[in-house]
Amino acid sequence: MKNPIDNYWNLKLELVKASLEKNNFEVFIAENGEKAKDIALDKIIPQLNVKSVSWGGSMSFVSTGLFHALKDDKKYEVINTFDKNFTFEEQMELRRKSLMVDLFITGTNAVTEKGQLVNLDMIGNRVAAITWGPKNVVLFIGRNKICGDLDDAMFRVKDVAAPINTMNLDKKTPCVEKGFCMDCSSPDRICNTWTITEKCFPKKRIKVVLINEDLGF
Ligand code: SF4
Repeated sequence: MKNPIDNYWNLKLELVKASLEKNNFEVFIAENGEKAKDIALDKIIPQLNVKSVSWGGSMSFVSTGLFHALKDDKKYEVINTFDKNFTFEEQMELRRKSLMVDLFITGTNAVTEKGQLVNLDMIGNRVAAITWGPKNVVLFIGRNKICGDLDDAMFRVKDVAAPINTMNLDKKTPCVEKGFCMDCSSPDRICNTWTITEKCFPKKRIKVVLINEDLGF
């Protein structure tokens, strides 16, 4: 076989796609982040009646370039919850409003081979939007987020994604020093609300773009 690594990832992504579709998600596969952005702009958004758009914290979403393509787009009412010019209270208000948009874009902390989404939030606005509120949700998921089962996924979220996230956000938590979770009680703790999304309801409300490269934490 010429390209076993490519072959492995193609098979793995097709497996996860089939599992997610069985669970009523709409799924696309992209070769890389740039192609994922194109799928969102050319295939997903045009089929929806999008007047308002917002997003939740996701390095995968930012990495695709879609954040920069949408944030100043005058076609939409854009609720930019990443805008650092707002006070904490103003940001909370924006996050509440973002639950009522037509299209919410974010990532997931992990996806299992059975097609379940596993997430852990500090504030909870991202997992709230995935669960209910926005009419449509688009998730960008790099191949590094794929886990065998729920145990693997929860381990990945708590011992890989969360410590790297706290480092990225300059939080004052013990995992920044240790590199693994200490189940802290720090005021900066980012691990507060777990969600496991077993199936998508209504069918195809959540559109998943699986990306054949490592993206996000
Ligand atoms: S619970 Fe605390 S120590 Fe553990 S990963 Fe979350 S922030 Fe870090």
